[in-house]
Amino acid sequence: MKYSRRLKKLPEQFFASLVKKVNKAIAEGRDIINLGQGNPDQPTPAHIVKALQAAAEDPQTHKYPPFRGLPELKEAAGAFYQKEYGVKLDPETEVAVLFGTKAGLVELPLCLLNEGDTMLLPDPGYPDYLSGVALANVEYETFPLKAENGFLPDYEAFPPDQKEKAKLMYLNYPNNPTGATADHAFFEKTVKFAKENQIVVVHDFAYGAIGYNGKKPVSFLEIEGAKDVGIEMYTLSKTYNMAGWRVGFAVGNPDIIEAINLIQDHLYCSLFPAVQKAAVAALTGDQTSVDELVERYERRRDTFVAACRDIGWKIQAPNGSFFAWLPVPEGFTSEEFADFLLEKADVAVAAGKGFGKHGEGYIRVGLLVDGERLKEAVNRIGKLNLFKS
Ligand code: PLP
Repeated sequence: MKYSRRLKKLPEQFFASLVKKVNKAIAEGRDIINLGQGNPDQPTPAHIVKALQAAAEDPQTHKYPPFRGLPELKEAAGAFYQKEYGVKLDPETEVAVLFGTKAGLVELPLCLLNEGDTMLLPDPGYPDYLSGVALANVEYETFPLKAENGFLPDYEAFPPDQKEKAKLMYLNYPNNPTGATADHAFFEKTVKFAKENQIVVVHDFAYGAIGYNGKKPVSFLEIEGAKDVGIEMYTLSKTYNMAGWRVGFAVGNPDIIEAINLIQDHLYCSLFPAVQKAAVAALTGDQTSVDELVERYERRRDTFVAACRDIGWKIQAPNGSFFAWLPVPEGFTSEEFADFLLEKADVAVAAGKGFGKHGEGYIRVGLLVDGERLKEAVNRIGKLNLFKS
């Protein structure tokens, strides 16, 4: 079968190859500690599952849902932003329901760019941003996220021609893979940069709930003028352990929201209504489970960081997300090191290279098992005597 050029241009699905390697090792009967893919390990809170069950019983579920999602979900998203971030949204024009934010992130270049236009992506960054580039047949350039800048872009250092031609830029804080967070001042600079250079900003807030040291992550929309220049993507995948449910939403600039809705009118008739109703229950219900989730990840982070420091592995503690970003010891590429850890320690991690050129020299560890198991992973790595403790 001859595939289209578009399909051939798609990058290798990074996590699919990782999962394949890990599954092979598990099938060999090995006790793999899997810190590779960003899959939440805890169950979805019971009240959300119950809401899904009740909604699924509704005889109306056999019907196509409204094209642009249930009004009650858009209202719930608006109320959530008001309560959590003090951001006022018009549910009808400033919220779009998404099949998970991955779908929205991939659709956006199709909505806003013409073939050959340029978008800007963070390096290192979430690999799936590249899928939208390939499908829309657009160009992309990267901007580096460097440790010395707290893994934030340095807008002063963007080459003038890059600023000139770029039409769209993706950002993501709390950050996957580095665990960095951004403050108000950074987002204020971002709004200014976007206005000066007429670049649309898409802030991927996938880890919006997960900030440490008592610091709640900042929503891009909290900044004055943010809605003039962009949107934010919010997913329920991580906040409520609902990665498999495939539900998220985009909020912000009404023109961009309309563009997403227009393209989605042709792709889907929105999500299973029972999932949308369960999402309403998640967003409007008791948020104790979210507090517990953040506390759990923070305990894991502290355990992991202490264990790494004990074996002499220099690690900068992440401020948010559920990832740690660690330097690879000398003599290995990131891929070699990830393969080495899988082979010799039965520990699966993601090679930094999969997140871009500037990811080389690092690996990403997901804090996706509880403390004792995390300690066990670091113990196994410690036994390889790679670090000076
Ligand atoms: N953005 C980032 C940075 C992610 O890490 C992920 C998932 O791992 C997503 C987006 C996609 O999330 P969703 O489940 O909403 O598609």
